[in-house]
Amino acid sequence: MTSTQTPPDTHPLDADAQKVSSVVKTQTEDLNPFHIAQHQFDHAARYIPDLKAGLMDYLKFPDRVITVEFPIETHDGTVRNFVGYRVLHSRARGPGKGGIRYHPDVTVDEIRALAAWMTWKCAVVDVPFGGAKGGVVCNPKELTTSDVRKITRRFITALGDNIGPYTDIPAPDVNTNQGTMARIFDTYDMMHPGRNNRPVVTGKPIDIGGSFGRREATARGCLFTVQRALSRGMVEGLDSVKDATVVVQGFGNAGSIAAELFHEQGARIIAVSDSRGGVVNSDGLDPADAIEHKRKTKSVVGLSGTKTVTNEELLTVPCDILIPAALENQIRADNVHEINARLVAEAANGPTTPAADRILYERGIPVIPDILCNAGGVTVSYFEWAQNIENEQWDVDVVNQKLLVKMNKATDVVIDMQQELNTSLKQLNDARKKRGVADTPLEPVELRTAAYVFAIKRVADVTLARGIWP
Ligand code: NAD
Repeated sequence: MTSTQTPPDTHPLDADAQKVSSVVKTQTEDLNPFHIAQHQFDHAARYIPDLKAGLMDYLKFPDRVITVEFPIETHDGTVRNFVGYRVLHSRARGPGKGGIRYHPDVTVDEIRALAAWMTWKCAVVDVPFGGAKGGVVCNPKELTTSDVRKITRRFITALGDNIGPYTDIPAPDVNTNQGTMARIFDTYDMMHPGRNNRPVVTGKPIDIGGSFGRREATARGCLFTVQRALSRGMVEGLDSVKDATVVVQGFGNAGSIAAELFHEQGARIIAVSDSRGGVVNSDGLDPADAIEHKRKTKSVVGLSGTKTVTNEELLTVPCDILIPAALENQIRADNVHEINARLVAEAANGPTTPAADRILYERGIPVIPDILCNAGGVTVSYFEWAQNIENEQWDVDVVNQKLLVKMNKATDVVIDMQQELNTSLKQLNDARKKRGVADTPLEPVELRTAAYVFAIKRVADVTLARGIWP
């Protein structure tokens, strides 16, 4: 994700190309999210000796990419055209599942990457969904609530039957929320009267079939994976979040609720940020105060008793746990050496680049990868979908308990896979030599690669068990 804004008179599809090329020119790293997702896949696939080459190609690319364009009449009476994407990466394990984001920097490659990450995430946490994602190139900060409502309705109408309760099910993501999900449900329901359409979208308000615990689920899942990883000795000398110092980048759904939940468990939240900047108080701040301040002023910046820092500075604040909860490419080769945390917990999708990943591993800083760390969101989305199909509503304690079981199990399988791979490197390398593979030997893996290996195997097994049609 770059900070490049779409010039008002530039077509978003042209802007996509400009964004990617400006990134390639100005960075030594390739920050195209889809290239990163493919790199992560290729890297992990080297650790799966029996993965067929053709199957690998199939699993790497999305099944379907949809681009739609539609106009709305905005609050000032002008007609503006918007571009939206919906990418279905895989339905091997179940219907596509993934959020919809509204952001000026949305590109088709970003959505392709996010859709692929959803496939691997659903496999890691073992919910019966494939991966999908959607986005509209727009800046909600410059639009009214009524404009955004029109965008949602036109986008969903344009997608038509490409979404559905058993084919592809949206959810909230950056700059979309329960209200947006209510509009998605309502629009789809208008188009398909006379049947139970509640499972077409998750993250809905409770009164129209939302699940208790869904709003907090991404953050709660992040807390559960961190707790499990710490209890399994992932960070020497830190076995619980109690008294741990925590920095949170991004103060929206995932970040602000993570700050609250970690605070509730006795952690000290020493810095938080949003798109306008960050605030630090090394004695700790109360997330409830920051939420209230943001509600009143639209930013955490200026919260009383705190010092203001830039988002770049925020990432370098010494802490036990750093939670990136904003956007992609925040921890990169050019700033990773300044990260001063003992554990990174990726509440956001794609916040760490592959080069930064490797450097963090070499520095002994474990990263709980996005496809595990933020999987609480899709897990409770699955619970919501299951409740909608049965026309039921579970108590919040039931939801949270089921979430805990899922997140603990997923954390265990990823840590176990890392240990398994790292203790069998010699056999894996010998097998590669025998098959005449001539590239560099396999090295010990971090948790992301372990999670990928586990997920790719799971999706590959199901794909082969179903059989390559016809
Ligand atoms: P959100 O729109 O609720 O919040 C995003 C926050 O990030 C806002 O506070 C915004 O000001 C801040 N932000 C934007 N750019 C920033 C920057 N450069 N530096 C610091 N802060 C910045 O979105 P969200 O739903 O909380 O999503 C955040 C991340 O979590 C995304 O990567 C998303 O894909 C991921 N995620 C969300 C969910 C979910 O259920 N909402 C589930 C899984 C993963």
